[in-house]
Amino acid sequence: FVHQLADESVGVPELLPSPLRPAAEPALPLPRALYGWRPDAPSSGRANALGVDLADAPERAPLEAAVAATTVPAVPEAAVEAVGPAMQALRAAQPAWNATPPAERSAALRRAADRLEAALPTFVGLLVREAHKTLGDAVAEVREAVDFLRYYAVEAEARLAPLELPGPTGERNTLTLHGRGVFVCISPWNFPLAIFTGQVAAALVTGNAVAAKPAEQTPAVAQAAVALLHDAGVPAAVLRLLHGPGETIGAALVADPRTAGVCFTGSTAVARHIHRALAAKDGPIVPLIAETGGLNAMIVDSTALPEQVVDAVVQSAFRSAGQRCSALRLLCLHEGIADAVCAMLAGALRELVLGDPAALATDVGPLIDAEAHANVAAHVERLRGSARCVGETPRGPAAGPTHLAPVAFELARIEDLREEVFGPVLHVVRWQGDVAAVVDAVNALGYGLTLGVQTRIDGRARQIAERAAVGNVYVNRNMVGAVVGVQPFGGEGLSGTGPKAGGPNYLPRFCAEKTVTINT
Ligand code: GLU
Repeated sequence: FVHQLADESVGVPELLPSPLRPAAEPALPLPRALYGWRPDAPSSGRANALGVDLADAPERAPLEAAVAATTVPAVPEAAVEAVGPAMQALRAAQPAWNATPPAERSAALRRAADRLEAALPTFVGLLVREAHKTLGDAVAEVREAVDFLRYYAVEAEARLAPLELPGPTGERNTLTLHGRGVFVCISPWNFPLAIFTGQVAAALVTGNAVAAKPAEQTPAVAQAAVALLHDAGVPAAVLRLLHGPGETIGAALVADPRTAGVCFTGSTAVARHIHRALAAKDGPIVPLIAETGGLNAMIVDSTALPEQVVDAVVQSAFRSAGQRCSALRLLCLHEGIADAVCAMLAGALRELVLGDPAALATDVGPLIDAEAHANVAAHVERLRGSARCVGETPRGPAAGPTHLAPVAFELARIEDLREEVFGPVLHVVRWQGDVAAVVDAVNALGYGLTLGVQTRIDGRARQIAERAAVGNVYVNRNMVGAVVGVQPFGGEGLSGTGPKAGGPNYLPRFCAEKTVTINT
């Protein structure tokens, strides 16, 4: 039955609708439940932030108008000499903020969430124009930022309450969590609002002052987010934006003696660099929270449904032009299904549309900048000489110089993929025999962020999930778009230190702990 299904599918690859294209039939209105995280109702329907279909949504016209009206403001770079005085001022302001009741700090986050929700068009405009996000991705990102604010507000109230511990000796023991001091938050361009806001909100709500260093490519989104947080009641004295290159501003912040912690999301190489710089400093031992890259695989056995596999692959590998650390890079197909899936994938790739991210018909926008394009294009050129091309999206008339056409290549072995390539390039390998050996080969790559599994055998899904050394496993669905409070996100090994963002163990890592024992 499985093979019959697969063979029929091979015959009609062109008919496979692009999963990213607005459907011809009326789309559901913009789902509101995912706008804001609620403890009692975290989401409606499928817990996945990708499901933003704007085709028939009432928000569509105002959003398109906002994007058209957006000009991205220039943000001045901080001078390296400004880092020391800024850190000094943050250090001086932190104790009063730390002494503010957590409920007040949470209230500021909740006000920021409400304002951000109300400012959706403004932020969508900035995300489309500055970060080249598609409209759907931009809406999903604003929602994610709102969710981080509300989630950490709730979490802070729950976890920062003093904990009375048993006193078998008659003493009274109380454990409290409080801010460490000044946290340096260094965030990436691929989620310039959501990751920026998540890091900063977590550090602030736990009583830290924050020096925020956004990616050089996306300072305007960060500047608007900081203005919004200040308006919502976060004192200006405890949150400063220091925009500039990582090599100068980032390095000075990490090296500063007042830095009490660093929260970084970006490449594994830069995380290592920060780790070394912190280790080389005299003075207190400074913790690093790093969320880095991934060489994320999807393991597909012969019982999987090819249509579902291809839908999940297209979303996971090519949405956001593959510029997600969670994105699928390595598709491991069982021999029994590989030809069917490859044929359908080639059909789906032909259907994707490259273009202006502001246009609703666009599936894949440009890469972030010319340098990123050159890196990914060089990787594609190397593969053209050595690997079979499974399928490719035609560039089309709307593609500009930094658009990279989604493409898939077949490699001989899992070990042939070594490095994360941050773009819409998929690598396919075939396997047969014991699936445990496939999981082991993926584990041996050393990363550990996301893993997709496609199988109709429950026991096999569980076996793979248990054996895989990764932070997030997704079975029979796509593997991107983790929802705050629903799918805590983050990995292990080369993919980062943990804790998971949007999960219950995140805030304590921004805290120092104190136990007070009173002999009564
Ligand atoms: N949290 C995002 C997701 O689940 C990825 C974040 C990143 O790319 O850094 O797709």
